[in-house]
Amino acid sequence: SGNPVYDFFIGHELNPRIGSFDLKYFCELRPGLMGWLLINLAMLVKESELRGSPSLAMILVNAFQLLYVVDALLHEEAVLTTMDIVNDGFGFMLAFGDLAWVPFTYSLQAHFLVGHPQELAPATAAGIILLNALGYFIFRSANSQKNTFRRNSNDPKVAALETIPTATGRQLLVSGWWGLVRHPNYLGDLIMALAWSLPCGSAHVLPYFYVIYFTVLLIHREARDEHQCRRKYGSAWNEYCKRVPYRIFPYVY
Ligand code: NDP
Repeated sequence: SGNPVYDFFIGHELNPRIGSFDLKYFCELRPGLMGWLLINLAMLVKESELRGSPSLAMILVNAFQLLYVVDALLHEEAVLTTMDIVNDGFGFMLAFGDLAWVPFTYSLQAHFLVGHPQELAPATAAGIILLNALGYFIFRSANSQKNTFRRNSNDPKVAALETIPTATGRQLLVSGWWGLVRHPNYLGDLIMALAWSLPCGSAHVLPYFYVIYFTVLLIHREARDEHQCRRKYGSAWNEYCKRVPYRIFPYVY
């Protein structure tokens, strides 16, 4: 870009490779996500050592985050259409984010539970499990709907959905999940983020760091994506915004 600070942060190379080994693609999914799970598991073992067995809160945090990481690895190819891969270079933001930030800050809830044991009533635990299931359902259905549509818009699973044509020849979904808000996948992700913090109780703000940080990140990310889409799709994007006025939270934002 000509701005050295920006270039260092966002990165100069879009897809640096050593032979056919794509550094950014590898770092996006493997070391950080697996490191996150390993740290979580280490916290569960530490808690068991200290108190004889893992608490229900620790089991929930581990199980929810395991589901999230396994889902990301099972749908590995979906990362190819994300902003990180398509738009952002492999600069400090993604290198540090993938390798240090994700494993060490996303595991804060499990870390917190080792030093701050929580008693969870069965009804509270059931409510939190339902919340996580709702978030996961929205997140997975919305992402799969868009991926299926982008791969083959005649696929029977998405062929009946209403669309807006754009000058590029691509279409925008305007019904189904993408007709509810303009980023239904972010909505599901944020509901899950809240469910990961709730097992830690309400006495301390630290376990809520993730959901607060993630809300800021996704609002900022949504604005960046909006900017790109307006540039790509022009008046068709404006039409989509008119038809689907809310960005992430229905009737709120
Ligand atoms: P998205 O997967 O939401 O992709 C945005 C792109 O989707 C747009 O650029 C556009 O690209 C396409 N699109 C937008 N609206 C429509 C529409 N109505 N119909 C069809 N296509 C549309 O973006 P992200 O890469 O930000 O997120 C991917 C997932 O990763 C999300 O679930 C997010 O929550 C998650 N995530 C998790 C993070 C974490 O730290 N846990 C961090 C960041 C993201 P085009 O038209 O070119 O196809």
